[in-house]
Amino acid sequence: MTIKAAIEKVEKNYSHQPEFIQAVKEVAMTIEQVYADHPKYEALQVFERLCEPDRIISFRVTWENDQGEVQVNRGWRVQFSNAIGPYKGGIRFHPTVTEGTLKFLGFEQIFKNALTGLPMGGAKGGSDFDPKGKSDAEIRRFCYAFMRELYKNVGKDMDVPAGDIGVGGREVNYMFAMYKNLTREFEGVLTGKGVGHGGSLLRTEATGYGLVYFLDNMLKVNDETLEGKTVLISGAGNVAQHAAEKCLHLGGKVITFSDSKGTLLDKDGFTQEKINWVKEHKANGKALADYVEEFGGEWLDGQKPWQFDAQVALPCATQNEVDEEHAKSLVKHGVKYVAEGANMPLTAEAIDIVRDNGIAYAPGKAANAGGVAVSGLEMSQNSVRQYRSFEALDGQLQDIMKTIHDNALDAAKKYGKTQNAADYMTGANVAGFVQVADALVAYGYL
Ligand code: GLU
Repeated sequence: MTIKAAIEKVEKNYSHQPEFIQAVKEVAMTIEQVYADHPKYEALQVFERLCEPDRIISFRVTWENDQGEVQVNRGWRVQFSNAIGPYKGGIRFHPTVTEGTLKFLGFEQIFKNALTGLPMGGAKGGSDFDPKGKSDAEIRRFCYAFMRELYKNVGKDMDVPAGDIGVGGREVNYMFAMYKNLTREFEGVLTGKGVGHGGSLLRTEATGYGLVYFLDNMLKVNDETLEGKTVLISGAGNVAQHAAEKCLHLGGKVITFSDSKGTLLDKDGFTQEKINWVKEHKANGKALADYVEEFGGEWLDGQKPWQFDAQVALPCATQNEVDEEHAKSLVKHGVKYVAEGANMPLTAEAIDIVRDNGIAYAPGKAANAGGVAVSGLEMSQNSVRQYRSFEALDGQLQDIMKTIHDNALDAAKKYGKTQNAADYMTGANVAGFVQVADALVAYGYL
């Protein structure tokens, strides 16, 4: 089956999963040439196989709220591909989560994980549970109930979940506790655990730091640095906070954060003190808008951060947050680099606009791979039962992000389509895809 036919099949069978179709098409349109160069890929239906998850585990999660009322949610684990390592990918708790959302995220994860160079397959899981406004006891009961269902389908060599939107260290610890309790095994079944009981140093910072290391490599290609550059960041969660922190370390000036309610603008730039405040305030579930009372700046209700002059934009909130109009605004305000901290934050139309206008655009599967990369390092620390230092891990993260960048750039030179900036999108898709495709060819058809 040709790539085109495989897309048509996905569109026909999964017309109710638009995000999944979007993710599949984005990869498909960039790998046509490499597919043609390797006739075995088509002979063994590699792309068609990769568009169907190995399996989807779907289950009911029943738990009790603080009022003693029984609550029911849906939970899923999409085990997409274990071609190059155990299934690996985060768990998302958000009311918008559907099976289609997790399929798009799991599909992306296959190639992202391959790009890290570590032996990890692709998966994603989650629930339509809304953690917003829930007490600690409710979160704990939900996490226990979720893992009570999932535990038989995960394991250190089978499937290793981690965090994502709505799932951080606290939730991972609760799920790990239930797994440990049910199986009597203390093993690296989840990553992002607390430091001191199996977790790795740097895991919290890894996605945001890795994003800025990737950006730094993009800048170097043009003999530039972050020094003195203005940066727009969306989101105010873990990825956004640590991206801002690393920008600050490298001399950049971050002037925005955002949340579902609006955008925070601080033209003076976020200092470490201000970033620490955001970290603490968000951890307590409070509103970003409160910042203005503390430090000044401006709160823009219901608005997005893509409307200010800057050289760099780092979307770190969620999928499809940057549409066509936002992309035009980025072009108009002089942005030259866009690197995705979130998964698929640009719509297909927005991607076309930034690419057509000479912006260097790094897709999430390359730029935000630092998180799962340090998860891979957590898995290896768990396997050998030893911990590595923060400095050693940070050095490894920098090396991994440079390798991802360089591999994507090399593939972009061969297969890229854009004119005025490196085609990191094609490069990342080709580099990730080839690794997984070659494994599938080697296996025959299993
Ligand atoms: N959820 C993160 C991602 O999108 C991390 C996954 C992991 O560490 O397994 O890559």
